[in-house]
Amino acid sequence: MILKLGSQGPEVEALQTFLKLNVDGDFGPKTEAAVKDWQKAHGLNPDGVVGDKTYAAMGLPVTKPVSKKYVYSDDALKKYGDPHLQNNMIVWDVPTELEIGVIPKKLYCNKDLVEPLKKAFKNLIDTGYVKELKTFDGCFCIRNIKGSSSMSLHSWGIAIDVNAAWNGLGVVPVLSQGFVKCFTDVGFDWGGNFTRKDGMHFQLSKI
Ligand SMILES: [Zn+2]
Repeated sequence: MILKLGSQGPEVEALQTFLKLNVDGDFGPKTEAAVKDWQKAHGLNPDGVVGDKTYAAMGLPVTKPVSKKYVYSDDALKKYGDPHLQNNMIVWDVPTELEIGVIPKKLYCNKDLVEPLKKAFKNLIDTGYVKELKTFDGCFCIRNIKGSSSMSLHSWGIAIDVNAAWNGLGVVPVLSQGFVKCFTDVGFDWGGNFTRKDGMHFQLSKI
């Protein structure tokens, strides 16, 4: 946590409240001067920067950024059981009006994937982003996440991969924002937002 000249946001508001300043969430010269005074008065290096030491000394709450809760293999295991049982899996006969470009005609997938995927495909078609869909690289596949002991959500048929050749694991994805939005608007999380980028990958955001 570092707050300094130019910082903005709720942490700055908390700091200004603490220092009994005008609360505008903007770390300006007045806030900096007040921080220096406070540091001087409390035996700290008066640099006007609120680092961990000053922050802790002030006893301000550390607000953690809200971290995104993804669906994990534990959640899928609880809901669908051992993937080898292939519970809840169906052959989805994709409606003819959605069979545009490389959108598959039939898809072996989890029943819960059908409605969100129907909407995502429709979004791709309605927005024209379907042109960006070069390859459909699969859905159901029982396997671990690469380099992990956890199972991939593909094991339960609740994830798909697209344009795999250009959006490999750990590389900067090339899918456009608009394309991604066609999915994230209708119940998918995008692997391109993962810490280890997986730009080809879309998975259900809740089950
Ligand atoms: Zn994937």
